Amino acid sequence: MIIRSLSVRNFRNIASADFIFDPKVNIFTGNNAQGKTNLCEAISVCFGKSFRNPKPAELLPFGSDNRETCIELCFTFDNMPDKENTIRYEQKGSSSRLKFNDIDIKEAEKLYGALRYVLFIPEDLYIVKGDPSVRRDYLDFVANMINRVHNTKLYEYNKALRQKNNILINMDPHDKNSHFMLESWNDTIAKFGVNVMCGRLRHFSSLSDYADKFYDMINGGSEKLTMHYESTVMGDISFTVDDTELMYNTYIDRLKETADRELRMKYTLVGAHRDDVTFMIDNMNAKDYASQGQIRSIAVALKLAEAQMIKDKSGDVPVIILDDVLSELDAGRRSFIINHIDDFQVFITSCNLADTEKFEGGKIWNVNGGRFEPKVG
Ligand code: ATP
Ligand code: MG
Repeated sequence: MIIRSLSVRNFRNIASADFIFDPKVNIFTGNNAQGKTNLCEAISVCFGKSFRNPKPAELLPFGSDNRETCIELCFTFDNMPDKENTIRYEQKGSSSRLKFNDIDIKEAEKLYGALRYVLFIPEDLYIVKGDPSVRRDYLDFVANMINRVHNTKLYEYNKALRQKNNILINMDPHDKNSHFMLESWNDTIAKFGVNVMCGRLRHFSSLSDYADKFYDMINGGSEKLTMHYESTVMGDISFTVDDTELMYNTYIDRLKETADRELRMKYTLVGAHRDDVTFMIDNMNAKDYASQGQIRSIAVALKLAEAQMIKDKSGDVPVIILDDVLSELDAGRRSFIINHIDDFQVFITSCNLADTEKFEGGKIWNVNGGRFEPKVG
């Protein structure tokens, strides 16, 4: 899809702003706290959900008597480039509605799945440098983006796991029956756990191959990124996503091996809920050794990989929003991002006008106090 234009009225610190976008690259520069992320958020609101997860009242400008917000976004799908579609978000006080081509959308979340965009925000750096849970959540997000059944499988697994952990709390580690009771739970946990692992792994190699390709493009080919799924169940055993029986049997064995410790520690020690991903740059674990710029480059490569996977699956090209992506990157990496993300329409924010020195084409706006001025020339 291509976003053709956007009008924003009375949204956070943006009183009024109108844009006709470039089909390729759009850059917004300005000092801190001027409205760049607010603008990215306005776009995400039209796609069904703000990435900041605000209460509706937070979107209205502070201290203003005007309690009405309106955002209108016009876009075209790739297979119908001449037909403009409109999404309109209207908010009065704390009640809001979203319209797609004048038709009320009851469940905004559905729109979020149908209109695809990929977002980078600085918090995404935690996919690389944060806790394993952030990486698991990211893999689950990607798996669910490709196949909507994944969240149901994950829900089943987490529910069974919670129930087993609750039972563990009340079990006597010295009671022989405890092991017997655990076994029936472990069967369920292993079945559901294999489903979750398979959901993640089915698309892992595409994500990893594309991330490697984009990382290579970002850094100009001097370093290689590889990603590994670290399974607490499978350890060093080599397996593919089709080896479900091997996975199930190994899962059961591992749960048996850890049963005594589980009974003492009162939670499930191995399984899909403890798995992780490692990012290796050449032979170094990025989480422990990568520089800020390398971490950022990995996160951006992942986002571009995500976009490419959406494109492969749906045939429609998602737009990419990169909020505050350029800081900490050297000139070569910045130049790739502003000039060479060729297959997608991109929206990029930056605090530093100098970042755009080598900008080869597209549009730039400067933002100051919520007012956006196109940069001419
Ligand atoms: P940075 O470069 O630091 O990320 P930014 O340009 O992305 O800055 P925004 O997050 O867009 O900044 O915020 C711009 C300003 O909008 C901030 O000063 C913020 O406090 C203000 N703001 C946030 N919500 C509202 C609101 N509801 N009404 C008015 N102003 C708001
Ligand atoms: Mg910002």
